[in-house]
Amino acid sequence: MKALVYHGPGERAWEDVPDPKIEAPTDVIVKIDSATICGTDLHILKGDVPEVAPGTILGHEAVGTVVEIGSAVTTLEPGDRVLVSCITSCGRCRFCKEGRYGLCTGGGGWIFGHLIDGLQAEYARVPFADTSVYKVPEALTDEQVLFLADILPTAYEVGVLNGKVEPGDTVVVVGAGPIGLATIMTAKLHSPGHIVAIDLDSSRLDKATEFGADVVIDNGLEDPVERVMELTGGLGADVAVEAVGVPQTFELCAELIRPGGRVANVGVHGHPATLHLEKLWIRDVLITTGLVDTTTTPKLLRLIESGRLDPTPFATHRFALAEAEEAYDVFGDAAESHALKVVLEAPKVTLELVEQHEVPVTA
Ligand SMILES: [Zn+2]
Ligand SMILES: [Zn+2]
Repeated sequence: MKALVYHGPGERAWEDVPDPKIEAPTDVIVKIDSATICGTDLHILKGDVPEVAPGTILGHEAVGTVVEIGSAVTTLEPGDRVLVSCITSCGRCRFCKEGRYGLCTGGGGWIFGHLIDGLQAEYARVPFADTSVYKVPEALTDEQVLFLADILPTAYEVGVLNGKVEPGDTVVVVGAGPIGLATIMTAKLHSPGHIVAIDLDSSRLDKATEFGADVVIDNGLEDPVERVMELTGGLGADVAVEAVGVPQTFELCAELIRPGGRVANVGVHGHPATLHLEKLWIRDVLITTGLVDTTTTPKLLRLIESGRLDPTPFATHRFALAEAEEAYDVFGDAAESHALKVVLEAPKVTLELVEQHEVPVTA
């Protein structure tokens, strides 16, 4: 088969690799129908995630069709359409039993395109399939559910739920990239009073307005602290969500927050940030961090099914799966291309063809 393989910092190629095989009885093999590229994949390509070994297939967000199941898999069968999410759950370790799948110590957590081969490929091996994938309702398209693989539950759990967004709250989202926009989209489920988006890029701020921000602040042109204080009667925001991952934006969130407010960090940080405890200690501010657990994925899926949530506006560009390298170029140059999420689409096949697919059986 073909896959997008990481070959060390700056190096990647769409190339021939061996077909994946069932390695454990809890595995399934999935034919990838739609996949997408994440900002995290770009971090890996920059060499920021040294655990990713050269030779690893990238990608952790996809929708596909089960083509083969391991002998212990009981809830899936060939032909099932499934969402394969960024988080895998062994279902047995302490953290999985507590619903904290992101922290799984039993071989799950964020493994695709990180510790094992990922999903930007024609086929993928999916470990702990019974406890890790989500069946896709027949009426929904791949594109309707694809962004549940990462950005929607990440923004909702690590931003909105950790930030305890309440009806009427002023929610400030710092960073209007895909994660910031997903925070805006899912914060609206909790009826905040105002959503304020802060970014340095005017086209991203236009997107923030489209996604539901009430106020946008270009912090290259105006002082965001001053604006937020004006908007909140001098108190500061109830909730500030950090959706960039650089020290300045985290430190900005701590300045924007009201006494007793909540700072929810979603951004992936590569450098230390300063925590001004000398100012914060007396203000009862809650600061949270986290990796997504994906426990809300079923709820978000039901909201999509009922028409209450529509993530399809994230899909700004579409490529054939075999054009993954071009797709990386476009996604990596978002400042020019204005890409939010690029969708990689495999040629459609019928169930008959899926059944005829010969994946060597070894388990
Ligand atoms: Zn991702
Ligand atoms: Zn586990």
